[in-house]
Amino acid sequence: MSAQLFVVATPIGHLDDMTFRAIEILKSVALVAAEDTRQSAQLFKYYNIATPLTACHDHNESNKIDQLIQRLKSGENIALISDAGTPLISDPGFKLVRAAQENQIRVVPVPGACAAIAALSAVGLPSDRFSFEGFLPSKSSQRLLQLEKLKDETQTLIFYEAPHRILDCVTDMMHIFGEDRPVGFAREITKTFETIKKMTLKELVSFIQNDHHQQKGEIVLIVGGNPVNKDVDQDQLDQLLLRLLQDLSVKAASQLAADLTGIKKKIAYQRALELTQNQES
Ligand code: SAM
Repeated sequence: MSAQLFVVATPIGHLDDMTFRAIEILKSVALVAAEDTRQSAQLFKYYNIATPLTACHDHNESNKIDQLIQRLKSGENIALISDAGTPLISDPGFKLVRAAQENQIRVVPVPGACAAIAALSAVGLPSDRFSFEGFLPSKSSQRLLQLEKLKDETQTLIFYEAPHRILDCVTDMMHIFGEDRPVGFAREITKTFETIKKMTLKELVSFIQNDHHQQKGEIVLIVGGNPVNKDVDQDQLDQLLLRLLQDLSVKAASQLAADLTGIKKKIAYQRALELTQNQES
């Protein structure tokens, strides 16, 4: 008989941010696989959870999987937790979840805290479309390359960053995204020194430089998407392209539309092709 693997979110700071269901499940399963058993022991003590813990982290996940899958196959329910927040979100667990799936074991999410979503819900930047980017590379040269790739992204961007790199990271962002790009800074969410602010990248660099406390603790950065394309909707683009296509080739019309609106040439070209084909059919 196959049992279930529960993927359980735990608090990102304030211990009371556990759901009733999460507590019940952690109490009822046979075993809890935790990123750091000492860290989770504190949570277990707070909620009187006596379930045995076993370590499952980045360095032993591959070896541990076989044991955990065998126990699941023998009918024991297991829960997976990380040190904070939702497992698999910049945390271990992906290999175990994939192995469970491959072994036809049902994987059950038990939702709760996640720093990225908590930050996004409070910083006041568009939340209709966003891209979770996790941690940027620690080396500045690689970080700059990665930021360059994201420069034209119109969705809101969410990053995790370590406190000792925050100033370098925000400075690199300012150089690539520009001084005026809006940014949300969410530090120590749900903890005593919680700081949630929205400003421009230039302002954030000075804010962090002038107050060293802001270079401590846990931080989420939320960067507004590239605003260049934001004002062009599909109807406007279509109207512009249709007018340009009366006098120009698809290539020339899409190039001009891209120059005028700031949208990517590839997107304008694809749409110009579609419009031309619609007209012909
Ligand atoms: N799995 C976690 C989640 O669901 O958010 C993320 C774990 S990741 C290893 C740790 C990073 O998450 C930190 O470096 C920080 O960027 C962010 N983070 C976690 N807790 C936070 C908090 N209370 N306030 C701000 N950021 C936090």
